[in-house]
Amino acid sequence: MVRYDIDRPALLALIDAEKPQWRATAQAKTLAITARGRYDKALDGEGWGDIKPVYMKLQANKCAYCERKLAGPPYGNREHDVEHFRPKSRLRAWPHKTMHKHLVTDGQLKTYGFPLGSAHDDQGYARLAFEPLNYCTACARCNQSLKSDFFPARAARQLQADDPARMKSEKAFLIFPLGRLDDDPANLITFAGVVPKPVASRGFKRERAEVTIDFFALNSEDLAEERARILKALYFPLRAIAQGPAHPDFNDAQAVMALATSPRAPHSACSRAFQSTFAADQALAQQYFQHAVNLISRLDG
Ligand SMILES: [Zn+2]
Repeated sequence: MVRYDIDRPALLALIDAEKPQWRATAQAKTLAITARGRYDKALDGEGWGDIKPVYMKLQANKCAYCERKLAGPPYGNREHDVEHFRPKSRLRAWPHKTMHKHLVTDGQLKTYGFPLGSAHDDQGYARLAFEPLNYCTACARCNQSLKSDFFPARAARQLQADDPARMKSEKAFLIFPLGRLDDDPANLITFAGVVPKPVASRGFKRERAEVTIDFFALNSEDLAEERARILKALYFPLRAIAQGPAHPDFNDAQAVMALATSPRAPHSACSRAFQSTFAADQALAQQYFQHAVNLISRLDG
């Protein structure tokens, strides 16, 4: 995951430019939801699809969670879901034995040594149903197959709250990547080669990283393969740069690395971590490169 930096006024301006009436309608719907006490699909509708292009553009057509690059305009709209970071209608207990098979070993669902949040069949974060800073865009893999109505939190839920900026006391495990409400994902999750790892060695930051990696199956083979193909291609530019400006490919190599580590690039968090690894320990970077090559060889073999 990477942060897509934007402040609230700038995000609202983009929404106004995309759909001038959207925010007024959203405010009226939020008032009705507040009075009623819950989100009702039949009454409130699903108007967030109208501002999907704002988030697709902001995230450079990447999934907010797995960093895969999806199709863009004019025909890629259906590949992106507008995702409610905090679910609007109900909250199920995470993890779920049949939905999250990657967390099941020998028939046993993984357990954690800390609370993961209350479940509510008929209640979600209703007042955030039309809150722009409760949205991002995500792929079907992450949103439909994995996230659904799950939102693990370590502390008591604030189901009546209407401002995500004031909900830190919930201790949400998942990381919100838009704007600056939350920690920069890069400060919580790093990569050892293609493998995601918590940055912190203990405490809530480590728990957040562990849960987020598990929640979105960020260490699964489909994502590892994509990252491996990128690392394989970055190893030689990094070597050229390490030889200094006299190397004939120095400038081109720098340009390649700048593109690969931009938030717009797929799996850029992994590319940035690989760049840091190379700077700190070239022998370790070479091991990661070899691992990436071996992984692709095995999958392609
Ligand atoms: Zn995804």
